[in-house]
Formats: sequence, C-alpha cells, structure tokens
Amino acid sequence: MSRSAHPAGPRHADVLPEGHYTAPPADLNSLDPRVWAQTVERTPEGAVAVGGLDVRRLAEEFGTPAYVMDETDFRARCRAWRDAFGSDADVYYAGKAFLSRAVVRWLHEEGLNLDVCSGGELATALDAGMPAERIALHGNNKSDEEIERAVEAGVGRIVLDSFQEIARVAHTAARLGRRQPVQIRVTVGVEAHTHEFIATAHEDQKFGLALAGGGSSSEAGEGPAAEAVRRVLMLDSLELTGIHSHIGSQIFDMAGFEVSARRVVGLLTRIRDEHGVELPEIDLGGGLGIAYTPEDDPREPHEIAKALGDIVTRECEAAGLAVPRLSVEPGRAIAGPTAFTLYEVGTLKELEGLRTYVSVDGGMSDNIRTALYDAEYSVALVSRASAAEPMLSRVVGKHCESGDIVVRDAFLPADLAPGDLLAVPATGAYCRSMASNYNHALRPPVVAVRDGQARTIVRRETEEDLLRLDVG
Ligand SMILES: *Cc1c(COP(=O)(O)O)cnc(C)c1O
Repeated sequence: MSRSAHPAGPRHADVLPEGHYTAPPADLNSLDPRVWAQTVERTPEGAVAVGGLDVRRLAEEFGTPAYVMDETDFRARCRAWRDAFGSDADVYYAGKAFLSRAVVRWLHEEGLNLDVCSGGELATALDAGMPAERIALHGNNKSDEEIERAVEAGVGRIVLDSFQEIARVAHTAARLGRRQPVQIRVTVGVEAHTHEFIATAHEDQKFGLALAGGGSSSEAGEGPAAEAVRRVLMLDSLELTGIHSHIGSQIFDMAGFEVSARRVVGLLTRIRDEHGVELPEIDLGGGLGIAYTPEDDPREPHEIAKALGDIVTRECEAAGLAVPRLSVEPGRAIAGPTAFTLYEVGTLKELEGLRTYVSVDGGMSDNIRTALYDAEYSVALVSRASAAEPMLSRVVGKHCESGDIVVRDAFLPADLAPGDLLAVPATGAYCRSMASNYNHALRPPVVAVRDGQARTIVRRETEEDLLRLDVG
C-alpha cells in the first residue's frame, strides 16, 4: 500500500495496539546520548558512525549481525568507576556481562579488578594477563577443578557461597599449602526492585548464606551467615577478609544498597563482638542499572560511589567499626552502554492498523534478554537518515519462535526497506555472553572500534565451528 496512507501523524496511530511506547520521537534520526555509546554520531551524509567509522563500512567488512563495541567508551567507563571510587575502594568488573581477552587487557590497563564465575572465565582472565591477585571467583556451585585452579593461580578472593564450599576450598588450599583469602556471600533479605528472575538477594534463592535465622528478622544475624563466619575463622587455610552481598540487577534505586550495607555492617559488628576481629573488606556487589531506552535514568558512577561510601561510613561509625575497604562489582554498567548490535533488515510484514514486523538477520540467539526478561530496547535506522513518517514496528529475529523479539515496540521510518541497517544500542552486556546457537545460528562477532580503527575481538562463528563439535 501507499506510504502516504496516513499523512498526518504516525502510521497505525489511529488504532494504537497494546504495548510499551510513548509518542514517536520528534526526530527519528536523532540519537539519544543516554542509550548510545560515546563516539556514536550521525554523519552529515545521514549514516551513523562510531569511533569515526561509518556503520555501512563496518557491515561490509565484518558482516551482520555484529556487536560493535566502542573501546573509547568502554575504557572511559572503567576510568569513571575507578576514579569515582578512588584508592580506598576496588572496582571489580563482572566478567559475565561480557568477557574476552581484549576486555581483560582494557580492564587491566585501566586499573580495574575482575570477577569471574566459571573455569572458562578464569581461563580467559589468566590467559589475557590479569594478575591473579586482582581476580575474584564467584559461583554457587564451583567445581573441584575450578576451586583448585583458582587457588593454584593465587586468585585474590574466593567468594564462598555455601557450607559445603567452605570445607572444599579449605581442603584444597590446605592440600596446596596455601592460605586462601575468602569472603562470605550473604543474602540480606533485600528484594531489588527489578525483574524477578534477576533479583538475587531475597532469601528464597540459590545464592549465598542468609543473615537471618529461620523465621526471625533479617537484622538479627543469627542465621547461616554467622555460622559460616564461625567455621571459616576456625580454618587455618582460609583467611576471612570480608562479607559480600549482591542484591540484584538493573537497579536504579539506592535504597536496596542502603539496607544491604546496614545489614552487612550489622554482621561485621557481630563478628567483632563475638570473635574480636574486625574484617577489613565489604563488597556490595553490582547490579547498577543502565539506560536501555531514553526513559531510563541511571546514576553516574560518582553519585553511586558517594551514596555507597556515605552509607558504609555512616553505618560503621554508628557501630564503632573502622570503615572497611569497599568493593563494587559493576558488569552491565560498564559493558552495557558500550556496544550496539548491527543488523540488516530482511522481511517486512505490515499488519494494517496494528504494526509492522521488521525481521532482522539475528534475533534471540544474539539477544535473549527481551524473551527472557521482557527487556526493553530502542532501535534506529543507521545506514541512512530518513524523513519518512514514523511507523510503529516490532523488530524480530529469524528464529522459529514467535517470542523471538528483539525490540517489542519501536518507531522506525515508514520507508524502511530490506537491506537497510538497524542498530540496537546498549547490547554490550548479557547479549554476546548469553548468545546461543539456537537454530544453528552462528554467534556474531564482537568488533571493537577506536579512533578510526576497527578490529575483531571475538570472531564470528562458522559452520565449521558448529560441525567441529558435532562428532557423531
Ligand atoms: C552478575 C553479578 C554482578 C554484576 O551484575 P551487573 O548487573 O552486571 O552489574 C556482580 N556481582 C555478582 C556476584 C554477580 O553475580
């Protein structure tokens, strides 16, 4: 049908279907700096560039779909976190958000530490030269091999998650003749205000040791966490350095951290009173939110550092404790905003009065977050500017699932056509790291761009890669 069927206002606007969207943006060509990486800009020609490179050139050279990561932005975020927390605190980047050798080198050079939660992440970190003492090992079910490799390498911290693990790490360290620094992960009874599947500090969950005793208040500190402390303090091969809490993900409200810090300091006080030791470290985890759409309004690292620092200082002073060294573990807040996924438009299916389904050459295999968490993203036409009217769209992938949605509700220009390039911003965290081979999709490459140079840091999978694993 004719593109001018709805000359006034957005197409399909006469019957607005259910969905999460506001009015179409005033200018579909504008790029909101809240969701795009630092060096992304629309060039005078109309296409979008990152690090000085036109996305059409990137698509030609590296193919689509591809994750395009702004190295300048990644490093700047590392520095912002590092500087905000200063020399009295440690920033551990959560490697599960996205990890590769190049990222490990950037972190190392920018003075960050690194959280890993599997043998694979540990291997990547060590291989790329992260000093072991700057690595922390997490996980609720670490294998004997993972524990042994971490202790042997000399990781700076193992975060103990269960009673069984206390015994296993102690045994391994003793056998290797080491005294392993450890923290105890506690659940503080805080439910972060975020999606249920990514809220992790309420007590009915697999992670950590509860502060609260059965049925009693979380403040009491009579629970498994206090018992874990007792056990660890009795073991010569373990050096208890602190208490760890991670309350969830994509959190905007600092209130959860406030309660968490208060309860952790409560445990530190109890440890001092009961055992006469003041533990030197407190780790409040990660989970700081980012902007996926312009409606999200995350805090800057310096605001977060100030808020957390103030909370911990206040609570410790009230308890008469020396202020311990603070650490935080941002993953998403560093990697998330630094990359966009570049897709090519294929099939367009227009449902009159409803929306247009825009199919791209990837989907749930490269971004599972929309299907898994109802995550919201934004999207822009990046291979050219367009003066066409806004068209209510749903960006979908090429997989055999109707839930294969990348961006549920978005306005794209009505002259969108096969071959156009779309970019979905804020895909630097939990997209490549959660990518799958569903439908035998080949996982996309990660291309790092900096100062007019682009290079592959994780290459695209090939059919040969797939077939190599298939040995039947
Ligand atoms: C996932 C995780 C993080 C990072 O969470 P983000 O939401 O990416 O900041 C930090 N610490 C622990 C223990 C985690 O499991």
